[in-house]
Amino acid sequence: MLKAETVCRECNKTNEVFEGILKNVTAYDKDGIEIYLLCYTCPLCGTLNVVQIDNAITNRTLAECKRILRYGMRENGTAKNSMKKKYNKLCKKLSAQRQLLNKSYSGAELFDSAGETFIKSLTLS
Ligand SMILES: [Zn+2]
Repeated sequence: MLKAETVCRECNKTNEVFEGILKNVTAYDKDGIEIYLLCYTCPLCGTLNVVQIDNAITNRTLAECKRILRYGMRENGTAKNSMKKKYNKLCKKLSAQRQLLNKSYSGAELFDSAGETFIKSLTLS
C-alpha cells in the first residue's frame, strides 16, 4: 500500500522510505479536527515530507481491514472466500476515502497540539 520511494517536495531528492524513518504525527486542521500524518524528514535538506494522511474515518476502515485479515485467515472454503471479498471491498473503500481526504486537505494549513502552524501548505510526497 505504501510507496517505497518518494521524491522530496523541496529538493527533489529521491528518498527510500521504510519503517525506520517514517513517523506518525498527529496534527489538527483549522477546525481542530485530528489528522494523522505519516511523514519523514528528508536526510538531504531536512524538509518534512508527508506520505500519507488519515483521519478518524480512514482509521476506522483500516482497523476493519486488519480485523478481517486477522480472523478471515482462520476460515476455510466459502467463508474464506466471502471474507476475501469483504476485505477487497474494504480496501477499495479505504483507498477511495484516502483519495477524498488527500483532495480535501491538499494545500491545507495544519497545526500542532499547541495551535502553532505545523505545515503551511500540505502536499503529499
Ligand atoms: Zn529534501
